Amino acid sequence: MQIGPRIPRIRAAGSDGWEIVYRARALMAAGEPVMNLTIGEPDRTTDPRVLTAMHEAAMGGLTGYTFGPGLPELRRAIAERVTARTGTPTAPENVIVTPGGQAALFAAHMVLLSEGDTGLYVTPHYPTYPSTILATGATPVAVAASAESGFQPTAAAVLAAQARTGARSLLINTPNNPTGVVYTPATVEAIAGACRAADLWLISDEVYDTQVWEGRHLSPRSLPGMAERTVVIGSMSKSHAMTGSRLGWLVAPTEVIEAATVLATNTTYGVVPYIQKGALAALDLGPGFEEEIAAPFRRRRALVQAAVAGSAIVSTAPAAGAMYVMLDIRATGLSGEAFARRLIEEKRIAVMPGESFGAAAAGHLRIALTQPDEVLSAAITELVAFAEALVPAQ
Ligand code: PLP
Repeated sequence: MQIGPRIPRIRAAGSDGWEIVYRARALMAAGEPVMNLTIGEPDRTTDPRVLTAMHEAAMGGLTGYTFGPGLPELRRAIAERVTARTGTPTAPENVIVTPGGQAALFAAHMVLLSEGDTGLYVTPHYPTYPSTILATGATPVAVAASAESGFQPTAAAVLAAQARTGARSLLINTPNNPTGVVYTPATVEAIAGACRAADLWLISDEVYDTQVWEGRHLSPRSLPGMAERTVVIGSMSKSHAMTGSRLGWLVAPTEVIEAATVLATNTTYGVVPYIQKGALAALDLGPGFEEEIAAPFRRRRALVQAAVAGSAIVSTAPAAGAMYVMLDIRATGLSGEAFARRLIEEKRIAVMPGESFGAAAAGHLRIALTQPDEVLSAAITELVAFAEALVPAQ
């Protein structure tokens, strides 16, 4: 018996850039010390107050099905948070709770795209983007944001790709994984303008919106004429150190939420109710708690910048947010892949090659700021020395 063609098609589009991650794991399993800078997950566990709220909710009997778009009190809390943070009036009916941001990305594309459609996404990109679009039966098409433009996407590139493909949607991500770049207000306004001009749905992945070190996060949904064509992806994975809880959401026009609720009825059956109560407790901890979770990444971003500062060979992309810094190693003459391969074999430092996130990040490395400060500093200092030794003195 043969399985259907959908999953092989998705797998073929999937990133093959995990080689370094697997190598690091194999070395560590064999007892070798590896400085692992590949992991995009907060290096702290979920706060005990959140876990206690989950426990109490479960012990209190909240263990049954939760059909539909989420507990009313959590939808209300998310709507109030979005209203407060963006100034855009948001009702509970504009929110569906999903099992994580990835499920929200899938739901958004399932609702907006069908077989034969095209979905655009900005690259460098989070590796599931093209495969998530493919999973709907649509065709993913990349819109490159170049290193030369500081990884800021342009309206011209979006409009050209839309004109070429007849695309129905555009997926963006700011603050950005993998580049650590935050789109400037001018970029967000230009992208929003392109979406209005070309009648595109905008899917805005804002899962890192609490991690902004420079500038500010502007949600495109708050711009004129955008609330009716924007679907925002949110998640508590990174903002509240809750990756394993699988708690995310979509904020969108009500017809999108209603359609996503039909999808949920046929896939997830809703989100675990005591996890939803934990999420509510986490949101109740307020912005101070979000800042506490973000603080180590802010500090470590500065440590990486300091370790790279004196180098003529290694530089950083404008690292304004998210828990990553992108290093430009093009001056070594090696690709990101070749550099990362040599780095793990010769120095036992594991980093993600930029190419894992699309050709637009070629010659770069993604550093996850998820190791203790001293480990990270030592690793970057060693990485810079390694890069400099690759280039003959002039
Ligand atoms: N979007 C981006 C840009 C991410 O980096 C991630 C996770 O790393 C996700 C979405 C999905 O996260 P989750 O499903 O844990 O919310």
